[in-house]
Amino acid sequence: MFKASSLKAIARRILGFSKKQAVKKIFIQLADGTLFHQHSLEIEIVDHCNLTCGGCNHLSPAIPRRFESAERILGDLSTLKQHMRVECVKLLGGEPLLHPDIEAIVAAVRKSNISNKIILLTNGTLLSRITDGLLEILDGVEISQYPSMQNSAEEIALLQKRAEKYSVTISSFYFRTFHKSFAFKGTEDKKLVQRIFNTCRKVHLWGCYAVYEGYLFKCPQSIYLAKVIPELQHDPHGDGLSIHSCGDFSKKIIPFLTSRTPLNACTFCVGNVGHIKDHHMTQRDVWKSQYEVSTESVVDHDLLKKAEADIAIRVGCRNGVPFES
Ligand code: SF4
Ligand code: SF4
Repeated sequence: MFKASSLKAIARRILGFSKKQAVKKIFIQLADGTLFHQHSLEIEIVDHCNLTCGGCNHLSPAIPRRFESAERILGDLSTLKQHMRVECVKLLGGEPLLHPDIEAIVAAVRKSNISNKIILLTNGTLLSRITDGLLEILDGVEISQYPSMQNSAEEIALLQKRAEKYSVTISSFYFRTFHKSFAFKGTEDKKLVQRIFNTCRKVHLWGCYAVYEGYLFKCPQSIYLAKVIPELQHDPHGDGLSIHSCGDFSKKIIPFLTSRTPLNACTFCVGNVGHIKDHHMTQRDVWKSQYEVSTESVVDHDLLKKAEADIAIRVGCRNGVPFES
């Protein structure tokens, strides 16, 4: 298995920021040799959404309907748990409350025992679908609020009151702006792609790993870009690591998670250094057209330089926590 010294060596291989600390923050090795991921593991239980946020960084307005199955989630997480446990599992999408059998999904995650904590992320439009049965098996609900789509204080308070009975935390986050995330025309500039990858907080700082259809991905963006970019569509799991059939998964998992090589999807993504825009809803049929541009035009080059100096630099996006039980 992995010794502390080899973890440090791996950490030193990460480029572009104060390396060891960032990697240590993401995962540690447990006494039994498995990894403990100190952030969350994401599961996109649907791909589609009932909203069309212009800055959706899961590309949901452009992705067809899909419903994940509880059986596959249980299988994937049970196998992954032999190598990795996580602080928290986040269930999201798209809009996860569109899933007709969300209780079975949460029960499957609970049964896998990969984490003690399960959080549901929702856009708040379907709060009436949160049943008592669901509250009983969740640990938290995070509600995203946007300038044109917000729950009333009464709605949140009502949910909060019901959630108290089950010790479920209700949090609400307000997103006034978003970073432009994608550039479907990509770039020929490999150095620029490497710089974007090096400054990608989703991978190097937050560890936004995702389990999807039997694969572990380093970021959900690589899952969804492979569904819409013709150059990536021939190999939709190309940026993932097969959980069930990649040989010795335990030997591959750290090199996979810490590789300094950009993903195939990084050519079409600007990570955390895109220009900042005010949040807005857009028409579903024109959503994709806003990203038919080159990487060079989407990158905020000043922000890229600042992020190279300090990967933790954070501007725009989420602010405020109006409600928390
Ligand atoms: S609420 Fe907006 S950002 Fe969230 S998945 Fe739906 S479209 Fe995307
Ligand atoms: S595709 Fe690349 S740049 Fe985009 S979020 Fe994933 S790792 Fe970061």
